[in-house]
Amino acid sequence: MNVGVLALQGDFREHQEAFARIDVSSKLVRLPKDMVGITHLVFPGGESTAISMLLESSGLFGAIGEFLANQGACFGTCAGMILLSKEIHDGRADQIAFGGIDISVRRNGFGRQVDSFEADLQVKGLDTPMRGAFIRAPVVTRVGAGVEVLASVTYDFGPNRIESVPAVCRNANVLVSSFHPEVTNDSRLHKLFVDDFRV
Ligand code: GLN
Repeated sequence: MNVGVLALQGDFREHQEAFARIDVSSKLVRLPKDMVGITHLVFPGGESTAISMLLESSGLFGAIGEFLANQGACFGTCAGMILLSKEIHDGRADQIAFGGIDISVRRNGFGRQVDSFEADLQVKGLDTPMRGAFIRAPVVTRVGAGVEVLASVTYDFGPNRIESVPAVCRNANVLVSSFHPEVTNDSRLHKLFVDDFRV
């Protein structure tokens, strides 16, 4: 196993620390050559539009596309979830969606920065709830066949619209969360990623 953390923009250091807490070392990925030998790749939280542009200019877009085509294991949080999705609503027209997991997302779907919130989530496979920090997070608006929802969050979207929406999803090789498990000192999703996504 060889864990890489995409380090173009966003909270890649926090992901490295989350892995360090479970004694997993990881290396930063900034250029196509950094992808050599990687088996598990993390897409951090941050700004998906900025990361998308940097993926093009760094030449990583092609290398990561190939990694996904070969069923490489990927874990995306928040902006990382957006990049791994199939369809992005309210994104920039030229924004990259790798389509690694068949979901549609709406950027900033829970509202603006001031609407950021935390919630306790029941995650399938974990025996106690996990605290989720949702920071200008995407909302999953569609889940395709072959995608398993591991956790949902209930949110008050406004007048008479309290809804439960998926917050953690997976397929055979891609894990995504709309919140940031890397900022709450709880590495259980990182552990699930390295334990259960063997390629
Ligand atoms: N709103 C950001 C985006 O669209 C994601 C926010 C985050 O990663 N905390 O990329």
